[in-house]
Amino acid sequence: MTTVAAYAAPAAKAPLERTTIERRPVGEFDVLIDIKFAGICHSDIHQVQEGWGTAIFPMVPGHEIAGVVSEVGPGVTKYQVGDRVGVGCFVDSCRECEHCEAGLEQYCTGSGMIQTYNYLDKDGRPTYGGYSEKIVVDENYAVRIPDGLALDVAAPLLCAGITLYSPLKHWGAGPGKKVAIVGLGGLGHMGVKIAHALGAEVTVLSQSLRKKDDGLNLGADHYYATSDPKTFEDLAGTFDLIVSTVSAPLDFSGYVNLLKIDGALVNVGAPEEPITVNVFPLIMGRRSIAGSAIGGIAETQEMLDFCAEHGFGAEIEVIAASEINEAYERVLASDVRYRFVIDTATI
Ligand SMILES: [Zn+2]
Ligand SMILES: [Zn+2]
Repeated sequence: MTTVAAYAAPAAKAPLERTTIERRPVGEFDVLIDIKFAGICHSDIHQVQEGWGTAIFPMVPGHEIAGVVSEVGPGVTKYQVGDRVGVGCFVDSCRECEHCEAGLEQYCTGSGMIQTYNYLDKDGRPTYGGYSEKIVVDENYAVRIPDGLALDVAAPLLCAGITLYSPLKHWGAGPGKKVAIVGLGGLGHMGVKIAHALGAEVTVLSQSLRKKDDGLNLGADHYYATSDPKTFEDLAGTFDLIVSTVSAPLDFSGYVNLLKIDGALVNVGAPEEPITVNVFPLIMGRRSIAGSAIGGIAETQEMLDFCAEHGFGAEIEVIAASEINEAYERVLASDVRYRFVIDTATI
């Protein structure tokens, strides 16, 4: 076991504080990663607050991890000491179900994916996330961060980036396609960048026009306020694909009407309440409402390579570990452009 410093919530809703945790010894196929940067994802806050059900405490959140390999097990073939790597939302899965075999580990139907924190590992010990100095993971659950991407702007790609890349690819965003991104936050800003780089015509649908300049600078072609009812008249039947990143309840029927025939409204943000929708516009337009969760390991690697090739990472504000609690408040107030990233040297 290796003792490493970390920031943890000692109990539900408690502020995070500095502590130490044990990392498992480096096994045959493991890599030890010196974490350099860890993004703050909104879901970290949900889990610290037990908003998604009973959680494991103390909790070290963080599933947007970027660092450097500092030790490898004897069986490791993918990585060497000094390699720049990332770890996202899961650190293992069953490896034998049809989804794992298809590279869709996030939809593992065997043991399920082993989440990076607030979960029990295969050895029965709790997993601890990226707000820490080091992490040990199996080499198959780490991804390579291309040289062209700085580690700080790469970190948020491991959750926010892949969460948008996967549905945009799956539903065919590209040249000739009109894509709308609902919400311009940590997820939404990555959606705009990626959809634009894929060659789609991108529209931001945001509550207000407050961040319009940002949206256009990030690559959006159009920007509309959803607080204006005229938006829903003007854009009826426009989009091939709408990706909603918001967790506030949406007027789903209103958004479905913005889709073309065969269009899809895909949710990556999760409203807590069940949704209601008028089915008639779905039937009459062969439209669908769907969801999507992060991406598999191979697709996460593809996404990192894509971002490096197109020369972009996330828009970030780097903070010290002592500022995590304040950063949580600001995330809840939507006061971040567009992702907080912890410099783990400050832990
Ligand atoms: Zn996340
Ligand atoms: Zn599986």
